[in-house]
Amino acid sequence: MSTSPSLPEVVMPSCPVRQLLRGQKALVTGANSGIGKAVAIHMAQEGADVVINYVANDAGAEAMVEEIKAKGGNAIAIKADVSNEEQVQAMFRRMFDEFGTIDILVNNAGLQKDAPFEEMTLAQWNTVIGVNLTGQFLCAREAVKEFKRRGVVPEVSCAAGKIISMSSVHEVIPWAGHVNYAASKGGVMLMTKSIAQEVAPHRIRVNSVCPGAIRTPINMEAWSTPEAYAELMKLVPYKRIGEPVDIARAVVWLASDDADYVHGVSLFVDGGMTLYPGFETGG
Ligand code: NAD
Repeated sequence: MSTSPSLPEVVMPSCPVRQLLRGQKALVTGANSGIGKAVAIHMAQEGADVVINYVANDAGAEAMVEEIKAKGGNAIAIKADVSNEEQVQAMFRRMFDEFGTIDILVNNAGLQKDAPFEEMTLAQWNTVIGVNLTGQFLCAREAVKEFKRRGVVPEVSCAAGKIISMSSVHEVIPWAGHVNYAASKGGVMLMTKSIAQEVAPHRIRVNSVCPGAIRTPINMEAWSTPEAYAELMKLVPYKRIGEPVDIARAVVWLASDDADYVHGVSLFVDGGMTLYPGFETGG
């Protein structure tokens, strides 16, 4: 009687227990506003030491540091423009001086410079690509160097490092009047997946989160009046706007060892915005 070859035994990694990010060092870009702020605070609550990167509003960044410390967490604020190579490298050096290393990078900083396509200036194009795409490249490159140098520290995490790219539903949904933004997020999608493919053998996990409409300063005109909110809801099958904490929870999970086998994915957190809501009534 033929016997099937025996499969190797599956050995589960021994993952640290709650808090989800205990002992980890995280850097969140654009962290003194909106989604980044919620992510940084949530990560600190889950036990990470957090770098609050920001480019404007020193007082806001320092207030966040104080808020996190008052709740028993640990954070520092570092000012740097993520689209500037020297400033990014200086930020990582400072982080390593203060915290020793990095375990989690959240590439969150982003902006919009909207214009009808034929009126879009090169400056508007370059600013959005520079922050949303090149900024993520510059930060991810520094993080990967450190992840590879240090490798896995099993008491800290199953992985040698985690990168979460803040993308958008506009990595797949075209967006008239926002060509630079949609191009930047489409770029983030393939950059994230390509980095993921390249660094996976080093136990570095790379994923992106794709928010739908989230209540932050970036899109205030889309939710701040009842009329605008009603229009927005036509695009959201779940019929509520997203809150920054909806994204923060997803980011924390992706960064944690609970998501240790999740790699190279775009996680849409959008109340169904990518479900073609125009077809809700049968098309
Ligand atoms: P926000 O404007 O509140 O936050 C963006 C942050 O990025 C700000 O703190 C800003 O100062 C910072 N930033 C801008 N340029 C920077 C630079 N050069 N260097 C460092 N930081 C810089 O908006 P948000 O909604 O919280 O956006 C956060 C991310 O989420 C962005 O990448 C955005 O594209 C993405 N996103 C947001 C939504 C939404 O509905 N709010 C939807 C999809 C994706």
